[in-house]
Amino acid sequence: MSSAFKISVTKMDFGAAEELTRKVYDTIIIGGGPAGMSAAIYAARYGLDTAIITEEIGGQVGKAGWVENYLGYTRILGTDLVNKFEEHVKYYNVPIIIDSVENVERDGELFRVYTLNGDEYATRTVIISVGEKRRKLNVPGEDTYNGRGVSYCAPCDAPLFKGKVVAVVGGGDSAASAALLLTEYASKVYIIHRRNQLRAQKYYQDLLLKNPKIEIIWNSVVKELQGDKLLRKAILQRVDTKETFELPLDGLFVEIGAEPPVDLFKRIGLELSQDGYIRVNHLMETNIPGIYAAGDCVDLTPRDFRQIVVAAGQGALAAYSAYNYIIKRFGFNRK
Ligand code: NAP
Repeated sequence: MSSAFKISVTKMDFGAAEELTRKVYDTIIIGGGPAGMSAAIYAARYGLDTAIITEEIGGQVGKAGWVENYLGYTRILGTDLVNKFEEHVKYYNVPIIIDSVENVERDGELFRVYTLNGDEYATRTVIISVGEKRRKLNVPGEDTYNGRGVSYCAPCDAPLFKGKVVAVVGGGDSAASAALLLTEYASKVYIIHRRNQLRAQKYYQDLLLKNPKIEIIWNSVVKELQGDKLLRKAILQRVDTKETFELPLDGLFVEIGAEPPVDLFKRIGLELSQDGYIRVNHLMETNIPGIYAAGDCVDLTPRDFRQIVVAAGQGALAAYSAYNYIIKRFGFNRK
């Protein structure tokens, strides 16, 4: 990924950091997935002074294998789609600041956004598009072999497993998509699923079941990962009989879903659903005037329909609402 407007604000970058932190933004977008990128494009088109602060560009899309049926593409690699998004945002000169937001506070009519790098940004509105964070298995060996056999990103790491034996944990669309991508490299791909039925769409299920390289290990969970310098095997346990058994492996891809990282927004009083998603109305307005949210982190998005096109649409709507709020409250000639 390369961009003149992607600014990693570290302590070394005093000039860039100062220029970006001195002014008052119309909107700060937190999160650089499809919802955030789309919000940035629409906000910029509305003439809003906009910046994205994000830990990484593309969010989950960059870690998805093949993305199918995003409008305009029958099939495109997630990483390629992220590059397209980034090019589009770059066209509108929106800075993408690589940093992690630690806190958001109200300051009179403005909000202050504080980051891990110690920077502070003033803004009239905030659009939260932080998506979801990948779940981990939380089993012994997972951290030890992370990067030495354990992966959370099939498109990034699949080519490293040419001719090898790998497994994907999970039964949803992400697991299915990762497994299918892995068959292009690995000699054998197991899917380890805790139930006897996949959650993945029927379309994926059909592809998985007719792929000769794929074998599904039903009703089983990973209990431990073992190896030497590299991962060598997984210890699995059957959910029904509790019997444990070993599965020799070179790679294990964890694809068991994700949760929204929204804890920090509780401090400012943002209303969350019981399972921790940000409550928004049909205009992506949260319970706090001036704060909007979009994409996988909002309660409005059906849990089984976390589609890129939905996130992008919600991002555009959030920018529309931010624009209307700003014009009404601060007028056209704000400084
Ligand atoms: P998901 O739909 O929540 O599926 C997670 C899977 O992991 C489930 O099968 C779940 O099992 C399993 N799981 C959860 N916690 C586990 C644990 N601790 N140990 C073992 N297994 C565990 O997540 P996802 O597959 O990442 O998909 C998320 C969203 O993105 C969905 O809306 C999906 O449609 C969308 N997506 C779409 C595409 C596409 O091509 N259109 C591609 C990827 C993702 P259970 O089934 O038993 O709950």
